[in-house]
Amino acid sequence: MSTRRDFLKNMSMAAAAGLLVGKAGSASAANSVSEMAPAPTASKIIGLQTYSLGKEFSGDIAAVLKKVKAIGYTDLELAGYNNGKIGQTDLMEFKKMAEAAGLKIVSSHVSYVNPAAKNFFDNVYTKDMIPGALEFWKKTADDHAKLGCTMLVQPMMPTIKSHEDAAVVCDVFNQVGDVVKAAGIPMGFGYHNHNMEFQRVVKPEDAEKAKSGNPFMKVGDQIYDLLLAGTDPSKLFFEMDVYWTVMGQNDPVEYMKKNPTRIKALHIKDRSVLGQSGMMNFEQIFKQMYANGIKHYFVELENMPDGRTQFVGCEESAKYLLKAPFVK
Ligand code: MG
Repeated sequence: MSTRRDFLKNMSMAAAAGLLVGKAGSASAANSVSEMAPAPTASKIIGLQTYSLGKEFSGDIAAVLKKVKAIGYTDLELAGYNNGKIGQTDLMEFKKMAEAAGLKIVSSHVSYVNPAAKNFFDNVYTKDMIPGALEFWKKTADDHAKLGCTMLVQPMMPTIKSHEDAAVVCDVFNQVGDVVKAAGIPMGFGYHNHNMEFQRVVKPEDAEKAKSGNPFMKVGDQIYDLLLAGTDPSKLFFEMDVYWTVMGQNDPVEYMKKNPTRIKALHIKDRSVLGQSGMMNFEQIFKQMYANGIKHYFVELENMPDGRTQFVGCEESAKYLLKAPFVK
C-alpha cells in the first residue's frame, strides 16, 4: 500500500511528471499481439483501474491501451490526473487514444491535499481551505466532464483522528459533490477506501474505556461509518474497495447489504491476481453487487510478488473474471 500512497502523493503534491509516461520506447507492457490471448468473444463489461499497470503504463500509451482492450477490459478508471493531463499525456489526446482502442473512460481517481499539510500523511482538512479545494475540484471536474467521465473519485483518506476531523471531511465532500455534479458528471463525486477507514475514532469521554478495555471491545466509531452518516447521499457515493475492506476486518457484502444506495461502484481486488489468495469471496461479492444494481467495477492490482509483470497480472485477472460463471 505504501507504493500506492507514494504514487498518489507524488501525483497530488509534487505535480509529478513522468510516472505514468516513461521514456520513449520503454513500453514493457507489451507482449507482441501474437503472444497474447485472443480477444475474448464473451462480452462482459470489465473495468480496469489504470494504476494497476504500474510502470508498464508508459511509452506508447496508445499501444498499451489497445493491449488492455485485447485482454478483455472494456472500461477504464484513470489515475494520475494532474492539471489537465493524465501523466504527461494531454487529456483530449488520451481520450482519443482510449476511443481508438475501444475503451470507455468511466471514472478517474484524484485526491485533494490541503496545501497547508506538512505531508500527505498529515492531511487534515480545515474549514479555511474549502474555497481553494472547491476551486481545485471545479477545474478537475470540468476537465473530467470533457473526458466524458461518469464519475470522479477521491481515493485517499484525509487524516481523520477525531469525530471533528471526520465532520470537516464530510462537509468538504458534500460541497465537492455539488461542484462535480454541476460540472455535468452524471454519478458525481465518490470516495474510495483503503483499510484505514475501518479504524475507530474515540470521543474524549470514551478515551479511558478505549485504553483500558479488552482489545476486542469495540469502542468508538469506524471512520467509514462516520463518512456514510455525515455525507449527503445526493452528493457523495462510495466506491468500495472490497479487498481493503476485508483487510480492515470488515465484510464488503454486509456493507453492500446495509448500504444499498450509497455504494455505487466497486474495486475488485485481491492480494495480487484475482482469485488466487483464497481470501476473497468474489462469488458472494458479485451476487450482492448485481442485487444492489451496481453497474461499475474496476479491477485493481497493486503488485506482482512473483516477478511477473503487472500487465500479466491484469491479464490473469481479466481471464479469471471472463471465466467466472458468477460474473455476468
Ligand atoms: Mg482500490
